[in-house]
Amino acid sequence: MSERILEVKNLKKYYGKKEYTTKALDGISFGVIDGEFIGIMGSSGSGKTTLLNCIATTTSPTDGNILLNGENIEKFKGDKLADYRGNKIGYLFQNFELLENLTAKENILLPLAIHNKLQNDNNSYLDKLAKYMEISEVLNKFPNEMSGGQKQRVAAARALITNPKIVLADEPTGALDSKNAKALMQKLSDLNEEQKTTILMVTHDANAASFCSRILFIQDGQLFHELRRKKPDESREDFYERILLVMAQLGGGSANVL
Ligand code: ADP
Ligand code: MG
Repeated sequence: MSERILEVKNLKKYYGKKEYTTKALDGISFGVIDGEFIGIMGSSGSGKTTLLNCIATTTSPTDGNILLNGENIEKFKGDKLADYRGNKIGYLFQNFELLENLTAKENILLPLAIHNKLQNDNNSYLDKLAKYMEISEVLNKFPNEMSGGQKQRVAAARALITNPKIVLADEPTGALDSKNAKALMQKLSDLNEEQKTTILMVTHDANAASFCSRILFIQDGQLFHELRRKKPDESREDFYERILLVMAQLGGGSANVL
């Protein structure tokens, strides 16, 4: 039996006070099986980033729980919290968020440096990861010397350097052209298949979403709909068509799901 690695239970996040309250998350619940590749879609402001931030523990929920292998992550303190943030999860952002004054290699090693885990054998894993992400030739370059696609693959390597169980990606293809977006999605998909890394990816791109095994559609901080790719029979193209249909149902066509 596959295990539930994550469980989100009646999660709420309200910003502001009284009449100025924004209900970014308004009672969302779902489970994630170890090894799933989850897409999270929904219009702008529907709570997608807030959801990822709650899972990353950079935002604390107003109510509800997030369980990692049955344990409430809100209760994590000290070493356990550092282990969760530093080893269990990796975060990939839309705008890469690389430090401009560090080389690609230094950026990738940053999570290890922050968590005091730099060791002599890091380089062999880094080289392997760089080869996999096709960024070996830019390791000594600075971000302003790289293309957008290269920057995002460096950011992906940084998210993966600790070999996390769960990767959280917030619109990782949002700043990429379609060719680079597809290349990145293929990498994430391969990683999910080969390493069984669990991935939660926010995206507004049906093409990117078609690489996922399941899509959660969020509206106003609540779960609106869910789609599951019928593996192994369903092609990515067929899944893509079904995603577009739900996006249209979300109201006003795909333009509304940005
Ligand atoms: P999405 O990523 O789906 O676009 P967000 O999670 O960023 O949505 O935001 C959900 C809602 O919460 C939006 O209305 C947004 O304005 C609001 N929000 C997000 N972060 C904050 C914050 N730090 N303070 C106040 N309101 C916020
Ligand atoms: Mg967002």
